[in-house]
Amino acid sequence: MQRIDHRLPWGCPGTERTLSVFRFGAGERKAYIQASLHADELPGMRVAVELKRRLAELEGQGRVQGVIELVPVANPIGLGQMFQATSQGRFELGSGKNFNRDFANLAELVAPRLEGLLGDDAQANVRLIRQAMLEALDALPGAGSELQGLQRLLLRHACDADLVLDLHCDFDAVAHLYMIPQQTEAFAALAARLQAGAVLVAEDTGGSSFDEACSMAWLRLSRSFPQAAVPLACQAATVELGGMLDTERERAEASAEAILACLAEHGLIDGDWPAAPAPSCVATPFAGAEYAYAPHPGVVSFLQPVGAWVVAGDPLFEVIDPLEDRHSIVRASTSGVLYVRERLRFAQPGLWLAKVAGHQPIRQGRLLSD
Ligand SMILES: [Zn+2]
Repeated sequence: MQRIDHRLPWGCPGTERTLSVFRFGAGERKAYIQASLHADELPGMRVAVELKRRLAELEGQGRVQGVIELVPVANPIGLGQMFQATSQGRFELGSGKNFNRDFANLAELVAPRLEGLLGDDAQANVRLIRQAMLEALDALPGAGSELQGLQRLLLRHACDADLVLDLHCDFDAVAHLYMIPQQTEAFAALAARLQAGAVLVAEDTGGSSFDEACSMAWLRLSRSFPQAAVPLACQAATVELGGMLDTERERAEASAEAILACLAEHGLIDGDWPAAPAPSCVATPFAGAEYAYAPHPGVVSFLQPVGAWVVAGDPLFEVIDPLEDRHSIVRASTSGVLYVRERLRFAQPGLWLAKVAGHQPIRQGRLLSD
């Protein structure tokens, strides 16, 4: 195991931060796994603890078949953001920006460098494109902020990987995954092993999240250079490992083994893991996910547990205005799994309270919330 420490730019004097990457194995193929880009989403960090221990073991046994990079603390900026005893790991306090939005559009960055170079040898193209990505990221003008510096470092480590997993969680949730539709097969066994309640697919959510920045680059390049053989060389998923409180040891160990099995399936570890169980859900369009809001302010009582299958018209939660006695029951407008509930219990304008993974597209435009 090799540890690589990068210092982030723009730290105020005396407060410089470090991004630490743990690298296992050697070889042509590569997997990249990061945890807690939203810094207070800690199930991923807990799983990374297990992965670090297990990967060191497997490396010692000579079973790591390529390079595996692990970043257990992907967001040292957010991890230090405490506000009156509350952790704020989703948005950078200074700028208000979401840590998992607006990653660089790699296809746009490298396309000019690739003109006239790509042919019909897919493997040669993959090598050329990865090299161009690394060079393009290095050639960018200096990062304008600590956040931008962090995002570029993370992407630089991930962009030449065959497999990328970004470990997150939601507030109160069943395990679920996000990816582009072309890659559901590649992650089907992982979703089943994690007993995912939903697999949400979209080509472009409009948010340029980390997994999208990695996988969409190849899809965009394959379309910009239709005459060349450009495969989808980076399989990337955001893995939501349940809810904010799901850091129990047994669960973390099981999630880590599911991820190791995924690495083995993709040829990055030598060894056998138990076969994946039957799928726990089918992939649904992210545009089919209903975000349910309250019609007025009030205190909220949920009427269904996370993981419940609801049909359109089923009650999701009630909201009661304690002064005016307004009382509303909010019902599902689509059928599917109630995969996330908000953790706050007072309805505010613009605050979604529940998400249902429906099969029919019902949303358009930017699909990711802030
Ligand atoms: Zn997150």
